[in-house]
Order: sequence, then structure tokens, then C-alpha cells
Amino acid sequence: MRARRGRQPAEDAPRVIVVGAGFAGLSAVRELDRAGARVLLIDRNVYSTFQPLLYQVATGGLNPGDVAYPVRAFAGKRAARFRLGELDRIDPAARTITLTDGAVLDYDYLILGTGVSAAYYGITGAAEHTLGLYTRRDASALRDHIMARLERLDIEGPGKTVNFTVVGGGATGVEVAGALAELKDALGAPFPEVDKADVHIRLVEMAPTLLAPFHPSLQSYAYDQLRRRGVEVLLSTKISEIDGNRVLLADGTELPSDVTVWAAGISGPEAVRRWGLPTGRGGRILTGPDLRVTGQDRIFAVGDIALTEDEPLPQLAQPAIQTGRFAAKQIEAAMTGRPAGTFHYHDKGIMATIGRRSAVAAASSWATTRRPRCRAARPSRSPAPGPGRLRFPGPNPFPSNCPATVPPDRPAAPRS
Ligand SMILES: Cc1cc2nc3c(=O)[nH]c(=O)nc-3n(C[C@H](O)[C@H](O)[C@H](O)COP(=O)(O)OP(=O)(O)OC[C@H]3O[C@@H](n4cnc5c(N)ncnc54)[C@H](O)[C@@H]3O)c2cc1C
Repeated sequence: MRARRGRQPAEDAPRVIVVGAGFAGLSAVRELDRAGARVLLIDRNVYSTFQPLLYQVATGGLNPGDVAYPVRAFAGKRAARFRLGELDRIDPAARTITLTDGAVLDYDYLILGTGVSAAYYGITGAAEHTLGLYTRRDASALRDHIMARLERLDIEGPGKTVNFTVVGGGATGVEVAGALAELKDALGAPFPEVDKADVHIRLVEMAPTLLAPFHPSLQSYAYDQLRRRGVEVLLSTKISEIDGNRVLLADGTELPSDVTVWAAGISGPEAVRRWGLPTGRGGRILTGPDLRVTGQDRIFAVGDIALTEDEPLPQLAQPAIQTGRFAAKQIEAAMTGRPAGTFHYHDKGIMATIGRRSAVAAASSWATTRRPRCRAARPSRSPAPGPGRLRFPGPNPFPSNCPATVPPDRPAAPRS
């Protein structure tokens, strides 16, 4: 194990609890290591998940371990401790948190970086009958369902079909549909008896375009690329109900669906309600410009779960990394008596891949369509990129040629 980088914290240094070992939490811990705080990192999993590549796990391009990094190992390289646990309650007056296992822990400062989960917008059956893609467990479950359905098609023989429906035409939906199309394209070798024409992939989006935050030319490009790969793309199409083997549209049309993937929206998880903190749109925790939770002096919210009232940020990796680092710097400022600052987001652009041969990317001053050069998005037959190769969980978790950040013209748009 590498030696710790930061100085060892003094025994009377402030105790900082960071909840959530995602992009935001890890970025905060890295900065706090430099500041000399006593840091306790808490996550409900023993690993941190690289969400942007979950769709590759779901479609067999990567293995689950390739998108997970052990949190204890990360903490061990910084002057931080790790505690497995799930945040249950917060008592700001007593400066304590309670975990679901009953442990009560004291803090001087608290950073919340717990991410978001799926939002189903009240659609009947969506929560029960769709598979999401937010955790490593989700991706493994989806992969098992996809592969099991293909195996059944192989057993059932000609005349049978399998239908995959992806709900949501944001970056995640486009990436999943593109990866499924690629999987279908490569079926010949593992399933020589299966006729590819019996595998149907459909993407359903309520809005009139795919990839809402992107330039219209990129939206059209993504649409054309998916169609060319055999994906049926239904735009301006509202779903009213979902069950185990079909999707019912608002106009009454019934579409057969053996596996339905939910990539349509995100919101703050139910648990946030128990924390007694102010929330805004999408159940996200409201913060001021210095990322302190509104009305709280010692609690910060960062990453996807945070909603800065004056500058709502998209729910992407770069905002998470930058807010995590900034909140840690605010604690460092408080430790040394310096005044609080104002968070400003540095836009580095966005990208969505459509299978291994195409991608759309945009930054504030340019937009492009091209073959993705992002090594992390390699096809299944290449050696799986391990965390090291992905530079995960480094300060920029994406390979340098793989921008993955912010919509320039729709800064508040969620990624779905
Ligand atoms: C499928 C998918 C693809 C994506 N692709 C891209 C992309 O290409 N580019 C991009 O920029 N962004 C992408 N994103 C978005 C990006 O991954 C998120 O914006 C980013 O992960 C947010 O980081 P975070 O630290 O706020 O939360 P997360 O990364 O979600 O981390 C939250 C952590 O908190 C832990 N946690 C949650 N609740 C509790 C609790 N109560 N107690 C203890 N621990 C808890 C979780 O286990 C998790 O480790 C994608 C997201 C998904 C789901």
C-alpha cells in the first residue's frame, strides 16, 4: 500500500465525517487529507462505484469488479478512516449522526455526498417491473436478465422473440441502447442458432428529441446512429404503465417487453427525508453558494444530492468532483479562520457514447460527433480496463480523451 500523502492530523484537529464514497465524497477526502482534518469516510458499500461505465457491465462489456474500487484502500492512502455503514439520522444541534446499525458518531463538520436514485414519476409498475442502472448490483442484475433472456431465446428456437425496452433518451438511455445493439450485433458467435432479427431493442423517450442537453445536430446524429444499429426509437412517447412483459403507452398501445430498463429520471432517495434538511427540486438538499446546507453552519452537501439555489448544477461526475473538493476547502478555511468562498463551476464538456463506433460530445464552445477514443469504453473483447487504467478514483476519473461533464446550454438538466 502506498504511503499516506498528507500530514497526520493532530489529535485536536476537527473531526470531519464524509458520507458517501462517490466522486464527490472521494474528492472531499483527498482535499481534507491535505488540510490535516481527522476524517471518517462512511459508505453503505465497501467499494466505490464508477457509474459512467455501469452500462458496459450491464451489457457484458466489463465485469462488475472493473467498475468498483475498495473504499478502505482509498482511505488508507489518505489520513482517513473508513466505516461501513448507512446514514439514518442527523442531529445538527448535538453534531451527531446515527447509522442504521445504531452507531452514533460525533462530528465537527459533516459532508453529505450520498448521490441519487431512480425517480419513477408515479408510473404504475415502473418501480416493480423495470431494472435501473445506478449501482453495481443494478448492473449485475440487468446483465443477468439480459443474458437469461438470450439463453431462453436460444432454447425456444425459431419463431420466438425477445424484446428489450429502454425508457429514457438521456445519455444513459442512449448508451444502454447503443450497447444492447452492439451485443445483438455480436450474437453470432455465442448464439449461432439465434436469428438476430428476433432480438428487438426499443428506446422510448417522452421528449421530442434524444439527449436533451446536447446541440440539435448531435441529437439528430444520436437518433440516426441508433436507428442505423437497428434500435427502434420512439420520441414524444409517454408510458402510462409497465408490467412484467409489456409496456403500455398513454395512447393505449401495448408493446411487448421482456426486459425493461429504467433510465428516465433521478431524484434524492427517500432516506433524505429522515435527515431533516431543506430539500428542493428532485428531492435534492438545498445549499448556499459556499455549499453549506441552507440554515446549517457545519453541514455541507456535494455532488448529485446537492442543489445550489443560485447555480443548479447537472448531476454529473465533474460537478460532483468539484463540489466535493470545494466543500473540503471551506472546512479548511474555517479551520484557519479564513472567510467562506463562493463555488463556481468549471465546465469541461459532456459526452455520450453510442456503441463503440460513435459518440457525441459538446463543450461550451464546440460540439462534435466522432468515433469514441475513450479507452474506458472499449468493447467486451478487449482486456477489461481495471480501476488503475481508468485512473479511478483519481481527481479526474475519466481518461483525458473522455470528457464527461456539463451541458453548456442546459446547466440544470439532470443526467438520465
Ligand atoms: C448509468 C450512469 C451513467 C453515467 N454516466 C456519466 C457520464 O458519462 N459522465 C458523467 O459526468 N456522469 C455520468 N453519470 C453521473 C455520475 O456518475 C454522477 O453524477 C456521480 O456519480 C455523482 O457522484 P456523487 O459522489 O454525488 O454520488 P455517487 O457517485 O452516486 O456516490 C454516492 C455514494 O454514497 C453512498 N451512499 C448513498 N446513500 C448512503 C447512505 N445513506 N449512507 C452511506 N452511504 C450512502 C453510495 O453507496 C455511493 O457510494 C452517470 C450516472 C449513471 C447512473
